[in-house]
Amino acid sequence: MKKEMILKGDLCYSTTKDHMEFRKDAYLICRDGIITGVYDELPKQYKTFEILDFSGHLIVPGMTDLHVHAPQYAFRGMGMDMELLDWLNTHTFPEEAKYKDPAYASNAYELFTEDLKTSATTRACIFGTIHVPATLKLMELLNDAGICSYVGKVNMDRNSPDYLIEEGAFSSAEATSEWILAASGKFPHVKPILTPRFIPTCSDELMEKLRELQKLYDLPVQSHLSENQGEIDWVKELCPDARFYGDAYDRHGLFGKDVPTIMAHCVYSSAEEILRMKENGVYIAHCPQSNTNLSSGIAPVRTYLEHEMNIGLGTDVAGGPGLSMFKAIADAIQVSKLYWRLVDDSKKPLCMEEGFYLATKGGGSFFGNVGSFEDGYEADILVLDESRMRHPQNLTVKERLERFLYLADDRCVLHKFIEGRQIF
Ligand SMILES: [Zn+2]
Repeated sequence: MKKEMILKGDLCYSTTKDHMEFRKDAYLICRDGIITGVYDELPKQYKTFEILDFSGHLIVPGMTDLHVHAPQYAFRGMGMDMELLDWLNTHTFPEEAKYKDPAYASNAYELFTEDLKTSATTRACIFGTIHVPATLKLMELLNDAGICSYVGKVNMDRNSPDYLIEEGAFSSAEATSEWILAASGKFPHVKPILTPRFIPTCSDELMEKLRELQKLYDLPVQSHLSENQGEIDWVKELCPDARFYGDAYDRHGLFGKDVPTIMAHCVYSSAEEILRMKENGVYIAHCPQSNTNLSSGIAPVRTYLEHEMNIGLGTDVAGGPGLSMFKAIADAIQVSKLYWRLVDDSKKPLCMEEGFYLATKGGGSFFGNVGSFEDGYEADILVLDESRMRHPQNLTVKERLERFLYLADDRCVLHKFIEGRQIF
């Protein structure tokens, strides 16, 4: 039997990258977890249906975090005065090594999952560690929480500390294969994604083996790209034949085209790299908080939007200190102003609609029809709570949303639905 769900409230959602609909006291109708219409008046055929009445509340699509490291959640907010490579060696690698212990991993991933569940995030692309049991545990917890996500067991077979490295390409690929088989078909909401950490930690031999696994199991890929100048110079040394950093992935068939691919950061992508990403349909995960904290720089998001590229937002925990996608939107707008002011005054700053698009429909499209209230989209829905943001004046729906993005934390999500399932 078909199952209808009707919500009433003040609806805000993107239709294109710079246009949003704001509908006060409107009705959102879903059928079997799919949006079937937005109406100002409830159509006659629904008059007898039960309505989830959230009048006076903002209702927005769920948000997609395109890049987040679950094992780094434990040390969020620490080492925020370091640059990338120092931060990895001081904080990240020692913490990630702890996930060899299944009891530690289970405890830490429970904390991560509980907080992700109450956040604005309805879809996420998540890095684990190199450890198979810990990564399977993370998938199980996310699946139980009902969060639609891709999770990756990380690959690292070179240039890594001896306490956090796989023995070689063969051993890394073997463990990855074991993990894929253990995960396949087990978690309805959580799917595996191949996750070479980044070029410096993955040998050519390992990348070739990952390509074989990619073809065998038809998996998507996530990694990091052109985040920091020191990292880019290092890749040049390691891969002298690659034309640019992204080419080092593309030469192994792990950079878009028939392989859905997310590359985090893309702060310093050259014109050639940008063109290749566009041609190959690579997704860019823009992570403004992380890029600021690790002194990486400012990604040229206006350029990516002008080129009609695939792009969304990531928190990049723990490069970013928290899971809030509202903050990611506000920060994306803020750093775009600095880019315009300090780097290139022909690249105008993002407007609110564009920031909102990146967090919803832009990143959501990696999962299909996700991140809008247009017909045919999956019913990922947030009901928001503005009660702690008191104000004396009348505001329009758009004004309320804008201040919400700047003032809210994740405790301001009152209800969350994913694929029409009520999470809370
Ligand atoms: Zn990252």
